[in-house]
Amino acid sequence: MHIEIDTKSGFCYGVVKTIKLAEDALANGKPVYCLGDIVHNDEEVKRLKLKGLTIINHEQLQSISNANVMIRAHGEPSSTYNLLNKNSNTLTEGTCPIVLKLQKKVRAAWEELKDKQGTIIIYGKKGHAEVIGLMGQTDGNAIIVDDIADLQDVDFSKPIALFSQTTQQPEGYTEITNAIKLKMLSHIAEGEIPLKITNSICGHVSQRGEHLAEFVKNYEIIIFVSGAKSSNGKILLDICRKNNSNTHWVANAEELHNEWFTNVNTVGICGATSTPQWLMVDISQKIKSFDKNN
Ligand code: SF4
Repeated sequence: MHIEIDTKSGFCYGVVKTIKLAEDALANGKPVYCLGDIVHNDEEVKRLKLKGLTIINHEQLQSISNANVMIRAHGEPSSTYNLLNKNSNTLTEGTCPIVLKLQKKVRAAWEELKDKQGTIIIYGKKGHAEVIGLMGQTDGNAIIVDDIADLQDVDFSKPIALFSQTTQQPEGYTEITNAIKLKMLSHIAEGEIPLKITNSICGHVSQRGEHLAEFVKNYEIIIFVSGAKSSNGKILLDICRKNNSNTHWVANAEELHNEWFTNVNTVGICGATSTPQWLMVDISQKIKSFDKNN
């Protein structure tokens, strides 16, 4: 059986950076707290917990002081930084530089629009950590849109600045952008629409979708590896399924079934931006062991 791990799958640049920061901080032997799962992958979280990382939530953060607290790649709103300072915590800043840049752009757009009764629209998943961090840049005033139906509360006669969560798919962003343009046209003449669109979808994500659509066509069976909480994982899994109907999703090697590989000659393994490389290797070894025993 020929088994191949997609070389472009696995941690993106931002996650690699965050995990390295955590490992360096843990190497000092002092406690490190991470606000939320460091990455949306339970297996990687388990690995880092064994090294001493403690995952806390926002409620627990209220009572933590004089400690080393890490902010993960998704970023946080300013209120979290204020709380860290107030309780004399040391910050390990794991926010992806791309997300930090986007937060600054959202803040600047809000500063510009707030006196003009304008609206910041963020195309993203409600409740996602990155979206909460972006929302915080507007002091909670942005409108989060996951679907065209969510546009109902927008005043289309006033200026709009549009952003996307970094892990959304370009097709969806284009659809939302066109819907907003159309609605603004019923109030404002074409050519004068005060709509500022920022292309904030991360290239590390959009390129993966295109790449995976091709990669999965080369194998009889695809094993897609990701954590259940990864929104990027759900999107990429969908792309894999559309392009290869024999795609199976697993979170770890225990979820593989021997019978999937009966009479199979080629297997492709791929994953999300939050899937560790070691986990895909683990999975390929388990598949090899099935092959030997069959
Ligand atoms: S997907 Fe892009 S923006 Fe998000 S953490 Fe990875 S590199 Fe950063």
